Amino acid sequence: MKKERYNVGILGATGLVGREFLDILEERNFPLGDLFLFASENSAGERAPFKGKEYMVEVLNENSFKKKNIDVILSSPGASASSKFSPLAAGEGAVVIDNTSYFRMDPDVPLVIPEVNPEDIKLFKKKNIIANPNCSTIQMVVPLKPIHDKYRVKRIVVSSYQSVSGAGKKAMDELFYQTTGIINAKGDIYPEKFPVQVAFNCIPQIDAFSEDGYTKEEIKMIKETQKIMHDKEIRVSPTAIRVPVFFGHGESVNIETEKPFEIQDIKKILSKAPGVKVVDDITNQDPDKRYPFQAGVAGEDDVYVGRIRKDFSVENGLNIWVVADNVRKGAALNAIQIAEILIREYL
Ligand code: NAP
Repeated sequence: MKKERYNVGILGATGLVGREFLDILEERNFPLGDLFLFASENSAGERAPFKGKEYMVEVLNENSFKKKNIDVILSSPGASASSKFSPLAAGEGAVVIDNTSYFRMDPDVPLVIPEVNPEDIKLFKKKNIIANPNCSTIQMVVPLKPIHDKYRVKRIVVSSYQSVSGAGKKAMDELFYQTTGIINAKGDIYPEKFPVQVAFNCIPQIDAFSEDGYTKEEIKMIKETQKIMHDKEIRVSPTAIRVPVFFGHGESVNIETEKPFEIQDIKKILSKAPGVKVVDDITNQDPDKRYPFQAGVAGEDDVYVGRIRKDFSVENGLNIWVVADNVRKGAALNAIQIAEILIREYL
């Protein structure tokens, strides 16, 4: 018999993504039974408010999942902690939806964007784990999919303009303190989360470099796109850039399709696509209706697309500008949308 309520555990509950999980579970009225919050020793004894109650944050350890009957784990404690604790939770019968990079390319773990490949969720049974893609991949692939379905995407050249919240709460503090330090002309710049000064700067490096000169973030965008779209032929050429913005990633995406298209049809397809909102009226007096921008999408669910135009330098070329809230659709919301399908269709 179908359950009416599901017990949920959140790994990394005190982080940016963890806190967003709580907000979205409340907003979407998820059919929640018991709620268990886990974080590191740094948060021992902390409490988190949820629906008028306070929940104690537990320190994550090997015994955390025993005798709790957790149905769904929403996981975002970083890749290293997830590699250890997600399989333990899965072994105790919970289905883990993991936001970290650790399981994404595991052939026995589905990598899911609900608007793109919801049918892959059923593959969770092999390991009881479902992976959430990287934030920059999610917002690129959501508008790409309906274009691919009709015109077949051959190649993508993407430059990302990624906010500091993509690197967690300490990264946001780093931008804040560097910015106020520079404005008030006091204090030296001590980069910790970022390789160089991030305030008033753009950094052409997200994550570590690999031997071929690409960063791990860029490699994720290539491999994850091919896995989600089930198409190894799609060529992706990414450059990932960190910008001094608190929330929201922007991406300039250049697309080459196999079949020719009319630009009006692309606009029509995108305006009907699930999870996409088109804002593309460049002569509009209202700036919010001209094109999407990072400061305007914080807290929004959709992936926003604007600056839709032909690339006249190649055959069947298209340029779009894509913006989304990285902590929301790029992480917590995507995972909760997966959880909603999971409980509706499979648990
Ligand atoms: P964050 O703000 O730094 O939070 C990290 C969370 O993980 C905190 O709750 C922290 O607990 C917990 N944690 C760290 N080590 C732990 C351990 N050994 N055991 C248990 N809990 C531990 O980071 P975030 O932005 O929420 O990101 C979390 C994960 O989601 C990362 O893997 C990240 O790559 C991924 N992700 C983030 C985004 C984004 O836009 N931020 C998007 C997609 C995916 P304490 O507070 O106790 O230290």
